[in-house]
Amino acid sequence: MATINFYNTLTRQLEEFKPIKKGRAGLYTCGPTVYNYAHLGNLRTYIFEDVLKRVLVYNGYRVKNVMNITDVGHLTSDADEGEDKMEKGARREGKTAWEIADFYTAEFLKDLAELNIGRPDLLPRATEHIKEQITLVKKLEKNGFTYRTVDGIYFDTSKLPGYGRLANLAKQKLRAGVRVDIGDKRHPTDFALWKFSPPLEKRQMEWPSPWGTGFPGWHLECSAMSTKYLGQPFDLHCGGIDHVPVHHTNEIAQSEAAAGKPLANYWLHGEFLVLPGGKMAKSADNFITLRTLTERGLLPLAYRYFVLQTHYRKPLTFDWRALRAAQNGLQHLYQIIREWTEEPAIGCAEFEARFLTAVNNDLNLPEALAITWELIKSGYPASAKKSTLFKFDEVLGLGLREVKAEAEPPLPAAVQTLVKERDAARAAKDWGKSDALRQRLERLDYEVRDTKEGTKVVEKNRR
Ligand code: AMP
Ligand code: ZN
Repeated sequence: MATINFYNTLTRQLEEFKPIKKGRAGLYTCGPTVYNYAHLGNLRTYIFEDVLKRVLVYNGYRVKNVMNITDVGHLTSDADEGEDKMEKGARREGKTAWEIADFYTAEFLKDLAELNIGRPDLLPRATEHIKEQITLVKKLEKNGFTYRTVDGIYFDTSKLPGYGRLANLAKQKLRAGVRVDIGDKRHPTDFALWKFSPPLEKRQMEWPSPWGTGFPGWHLECSAMSTKYLGQPFDLHCGGIDHVPVHHTNEIAQSEAAAGKPLANYWLHGEFLVLPGGKMAKSADNFITLRTLTERGLLPLAYRYFVLQTHYRKPLTFDWRALRAAQNGLQHLYQIIREWTEEPAIGCAEFEARFLTAVNNDLNLPEALAITWELIKSGYPASAKKSTLFKFDEVLGLGLREVKAEAEPPLPAAVQTLVKERDAARAAKDWGKSDALRQRLERLDYEVRDTKEGTKVVEKNRR
């Protein structure tokens, strides 16, 4: 097998990937909290993780990928405080927390499909693994890492040598003398393992435990479910960069304190998608979803292409114009493939070798895309280029094999509405209204044609 190098957050260097079991890779990716749609930032991270998985498969590994679905109520801040996200979602929509979880899990899976993100092999839900989480807390209690406060059972981070190694917390220590409100916690970095339901309040999601009725702390599920399905240690663990200082740091602490061995060997983190004005966050109102894009006439795969143009360890600023340019680039690629009518034949070994080197070098997709375009412009016969391009697409996931003879981008929702209204007007023989709608469509730069199937529109600046 070829050498693959990844940047391991744990050691802060590029390392050669050496699997625990020959030819196999266990991969755990932190999944969504299903109280709202995924935003484009979340989806950037899932695309990075999908590329990671595809690169491993491309190299011949059998990958087992587990992604948790956080469907249990957690509090809205890393500090175990604030509102419960699931119950907040439930109140917002007048549904139960369970209905909210089911709805947004289904929406999340649709997003994955539209972005050609392979579905993880297992999608365990936190609420279906309460028993495993309680078992883990019991182990920690037995090993002397827990203490009780009025509102829950906490992990005592001072008892674990090396706590915070992943984030280099010792170096960037909370400055001495700075007072932080830590409530009843003994140390600022201590975190909840089990939270008690507030007295006199019945929560929608709560479970009995040896310590009292309540719900798990939000890092617990990942430690419990990753090791249940992948063993301990397993090969690779990833997430967005925000998970380094708290969530992953605490997953490592719990799992190491419970089992006395590492949780995972390689930790990979994707940088954030940012808006020109700052970060995109699910709890803020400034989030853009995949649906927002399709309503504006953009293809989900154009977003994937946009994301692949930047290395996963670099911040990426969201920008509508750059996204449109990515869509044009992708459509240009589709058009080239449409024009290659030859059957794929023996590929271009030289380009395939270079592509493999790029993707195996810490997932250098910007380079891999540059090689892809170089291949397209090269003098090889179309049959060879097509074969190699289809191979590349096993990593790129841009749907190149599925390019149809005449694929059209979806119409913006506003345009679709006008088309429907015009069809209705014509059905009602309201020619005045039908003409007015034609003019409105033309003002939006669409050419309007009447066909047997109804109104057809074509963007004027496209062929
Ligand atoms: P959450 O549902 O908030 O737990 O986030 C799901 C995944 O998206 C995690 O891996 C986060 O690290 C990641 N994430 C959150 N915000 C962003 C962002 N703006 N850009 C990239 N990844 C993000
Ligand atoms: Zn996690």
